Amino acid sequence: MPAPLQKTLKETFGFSSFRPNQDEIISAIMAGRDTFAVMPTGGGKSLCYQLPAILQEGTCLVISPLISLMKDQVDAALDLGIKAAFINSSLPPAERARVLADFRNGDLDLLYLAPERLAAGFASELKQCPISFVAVDEAHCISEWGHDFRPDYLALSQLKDLLPGCPLAAFTATATDQVQEDIISRLRLNAPFTLRASFNRPNLFYQVSRRESVLGQIERAIASQGDQPGIVYRLSRADVEKTAVHLAKRGVAALPYHAGLPPDTRADHQEKFNRDQCQVIVATVAFGMGIDKSNVRFVIHGDLPKNMEGYYQETGRAGRDGEPAHCLLFYNRGDVGRLGSFIEKMGSQAEQRLAWQKLNDMTRLAETAVCRRRQLLAYFGEEFEGENCGACDVCQQGVELVDGSKHAQMVMSAIFRSGQRFGAAHVIDIVCGARTKKIQQFHHDLLKTYGVGANQAKPYWRRLTDAMAAHGLIKSDPKRYNALVLTPAGEDVLYGRKPFSYQQLKGETAAQPRTAAAPSDHNQELFNQLRDLRRRLAEAADVPPYVVFSDRSLREMAAYLPATPPEFLAIHGVGQQKLERYGEDFIKIIKEFS
Ligand code: ADP
Ligand code: MG
Ligand code: ZN
Repeated sequence: MPAPLQKTLKETFGFSSFRPNQDEIISAIMAGRDTFAVMPTGGGKSLCYQLPAILQEGTCLVISPLISLMKDQVDAALDLGIKAAFINSSLPPAERARVLADFRNGDLDLLYLAPERLAAGFASELKQCPISFVAVDEAHCISEWGHDFRPDYLALSQLKDLLPGCPLAAFTATATDQVQEDIISRLRLNAPFTLRASFNRPNLFYQVSRRESVLGQIERAIASQGDQPGIVYRLSRADVEKTAVHLAKRGVAALPYHAGLPPDTRADHQEKFNRDQCQVIVATVAFGMGIDKSNVRFVIHGDLPKNMEGYYQETGRAGRDGEPAHCLLFYNRGDVGRLGSFIEKMGSQAEQRLAWQKLNDMTRLAETAVCRRRQLLAYFGEEFEGENCGACDVCQQGVELVDGSKHAQMVMSAIFRSGQRFGAAHVIDIVCGARTKKIQQFHHDLLKTYGVGANQAKPYWRRLTDAMAAHGLIKSDPKRYNALVLTPAGEDVLYGRKPFSYQQLKGETAAQPRTAAAPSDHNQELFNQLRDLRRRLAEAADVPPYVVFSDRSLREMAAYLPATPPEFLAIHGVGQQKLERYGEDFIKIIKEFS
């Protein structure tokens, strides 16, 4: 690694080593090559263009899709001592003139632009300014095959004409091979240095728990996280509202976010979350694109996501700072029916088939007692190396084989004797001998199977029925209110022709979310004080708290107790500028404390 890169990494960014692949990408950019990089969320893409931007003559243009987040990105860069600015439609004319003057004079390292600037009259301006290279962030937006196509991005096809010979570097967190080719050809990258980083996020713990009464489960899961920030995803707007209200009643600072709220409210809630002024955001999948908040410590899914892309992206918003974070999915088989009924309403047969396939892949991840990480990576074409990932529920708890033949026969007998016309809840009521109106109405208390399973609790039967469905013994019919019916494989088990066994997590009981990875040996009281200071400084400077320091920086301070400027410089994330700007305030609190 050339010394200047290492030096700038520490002096400006305060980091002592590169994240995987950063150095290779940076070297390619420094060598003037076109570059294409796929790196997971939190992989550290920004640094890949910011560091060369500092070292090279002229300005690096950064194309980024979300105007609302540009200011935060520029503030974060300025706070590191990088000469950065943005131009977009929100900028008053006087400011804009000043930025342009700086740009012309070569006084900027980074200039953030929205893509539509290139389509507008701005193009001729560009030719007169010293430009080192162009970085295209969220490059998948240029591809119609990607999941977030933006017509504005098509203007970027002209970059190679507008700025002949100027290197381009394109970044994205999600691109299948097809989308990758599309991006490269649309941007007309010239024999680019191409890098696909691993999608593994080792600091994320994946857990799937059975959903019983979800509001209480979400509440307890949040309580186990202390007062750390996190996101709760729900499928419907109504459930978002319900969950947010429930949490607020229980004293959790939670705000809702979904497309049905007025834009102002949405922006306000996002802003409050971003600035640590509310702990939890409860949201539909409408929330999250381009959120750079690095200290999200947990992501909870209250419902099954539609596909693995969504699950990966949403969980990926946790732990961008590389610190441990927890991803907890609450699931039961009812979700498949619910999502399935949306799919049945989709346009073409082909669309429906694809959506079903994706939903089945997602369901398998939730239901199969195989390392969640291995399954997730395999979906993205990557093999997890190693036996035990150490950071998912399956690897941590281990699995055991359970013989379920006899109990499966009881369930199927209840299904069969009640005419294969009822859903799982009612079938389980029969097996458990529940006294409900429906049981009386259909005289199901007279069935031979009524109450045969009364010695096991309902959640046990739920789990068993799910396992039976996962193994194809029974299936639910979406066209008849998800009534359970037997399959030929089920009949084999019912009539004793074949045994039935299934894998489950060792010692699995009703969902018991565990806490995130053990905290390190920092002093929590001091950490809290430092966090308060961070919030005050951030508010005074009108920037999000993580721009001032990351959680990891605060934890190192609370563990190593730096008392002098050189000691403070040794802390992760402290560079020259941060030392000058914040050193005194933080050292003061640390000293008072110790
Ligand atoms: P993304 O790839 O999702 O755009 P970011 O550029 O936002 O990721 O980086 C995510 C987080 O990782 C940021 O908080 C950033 O400061 C941090 N980071 C980037 N590079 C390093 C590094 N070499 N060492 C430690 N932290 C890093
Ligand atoms: Mg980014
Ligand atoms: Zn695992």
